[in-house]
Amino acid sequence: MKRKFSLLLLVVFVVAFSACGAAAPPAAPNPDTLPDAALEPPPYNATIEYGEPDLITDNSGPLFAYIRYPQAGDDTDGAIAEWADNLYQNAKEEIEERQKADDSAEGEINIQFDSYLVDDKYAGIVENGVFMGSHMAHPLDIVQTFNIDVGSGAMLENSDILDSRQNENILSLLYDKLLIMYPEADELLYGMYENYLSHIAISGDGIIVIIERGLALPTFFGELRVTLPYDELGEALRLGEETIPEAENGPGAGSEPGPVIPYIPPQSSEIDPSKPMAALTFDDGPSGHTGRILDLLEAYGCRATFCVIGNLAESRQETIKRASEMGCEVIGHSWDHRSLTKLSEQDIRTEILDTQNVLQSILGRAPTPMYRPPYGAYNDTVKKVSAELGYGILLWSVDPLDWKTRNAASVYSAIIGSIKDRSIVLSHDLYGTTADAMERVIPELVSQGYQLVTVSELLYYTGDTLDAGRIYTKGI
Ligand code: ZN
Repeated sequence: MKRKFSLLLLVVFVVAFSACGAAAPPAAPNPDTLPDAALEPPPYNATIEYGEPDLITDNSGPLFAYIRYPQAGDDTDGAIAEWADNLYQNAKEEIEERQKADDSAEGEINIQFDSYLVDDKYAGIVENGVFMGSHMAHPLDIVQTFNIDVGSGAMLENSDILDSRQNENILSLLYDKLLIMYPEADELLYGMYENYLSHIAISGDGIIVIIERGLALPTFFGELRVTLPYDELGEALRLGEETIPEAENGPGAGSEPGPVIPYIPPQSSEIDPSKPMAALTFDDGPSGHTGRILDLLEAYGCRATFCVIGNLAESRQETIKRASEMGCEVIGHSWDHRSLTKLSEQDIRTEILDTQNVLQSILGRAPTPMYRPPYGAYNDTVKKVSAELGYGILLWSVDPLDWKTRNAASVYSAIIGSIKDRSIVLSHDLYGTTADAMERVIPELVSQGYQLVTVSELLYYTGDTLDAGRIYTKGI
């Protein structure tokens, strides 16, 4: 029944997309021939070979935003950050405009990126995600690519990468690759058009071509990503003839749940429950700033809880291992930071379990059965799924708004001004300004007599338990 329902929805999408004039009207897909693989893509793992993740996030609504983009400390930073900010501002304006007519209107924008570095000479960036509004019939896909000549810091145009006079050959190669990935494309493809080459990105394996959902194949295929290998592009490739390094592939994260392992809280002889304690928590990492926070925690003999994004975990395995070896706690913060309240039960399960699985494979053991939902957003469905899976839901009692102010001094005073015994403090290890703030926050709290512990330790040493489906905002 469920499958039938989702197919019905897909047909609606096809109609909606055709109505937008994005492509010639497709023949109605035969549900019996729908490829399962297209319906269930493998979990996405971010590839970050160029730049550090930076983030525009808005936890306050009515637009919930998570826009991740790279900053490499070179001349291209400004243009990429400006693109991200424009995307955020436009989405926010659209939702605010809707709110004038309907004050329940809200939206979500969720964008991730992959970045590829080739021989330290060229970089390709793919920004990809969705914008959804409560007024919209279907989510709007967003794709943007940037290509960079790393030496000069100049942005490359598509015409600097592929020779448009060779478009016929490029499209023929693209067609061959499409058929290998999607054998059904033979019958269902709408044709081969030059606008399929609008979004291209340089990568170690070749030129990645991203074709928007519904443009070349029916929408149920989703977005298409095809890599055109350098050695098959021949004359069509305009980049220099560099040797192309082999891409590294980490172990994939399966979507099967890991074994249920009874949770044993950590027990430290150093913790004195009669003295004040607090749990610092860091979301949205790991990032290049996480190491600095770990250095500080280590120097002051403290621990913290890191709530990591599943699709960033593989690219930062060493950071996660180091945190865990220091006695810090590493738990999930969803796979891709989608607001769980807008997802189906099955999708919520996948968000939690895929993240659990990748952390388990990195840590070599099951992480604490607790996670922090993106935006702290939950509803009855989220609670029900969490209860079924055996997970506690971690929120917070102190929010210094570090994502909003990006100012170390105000993060410091917000935390110091409102922290109490048994507080759980929300921050984000994705921001350098938050790491700056911690240089003062951690020593100050230690000098005030706080024991900075993990959330598990806070629960355990205050006599609380970790219960499935329960919301945690502070120690009891
Ligand atoms: Zn977050």
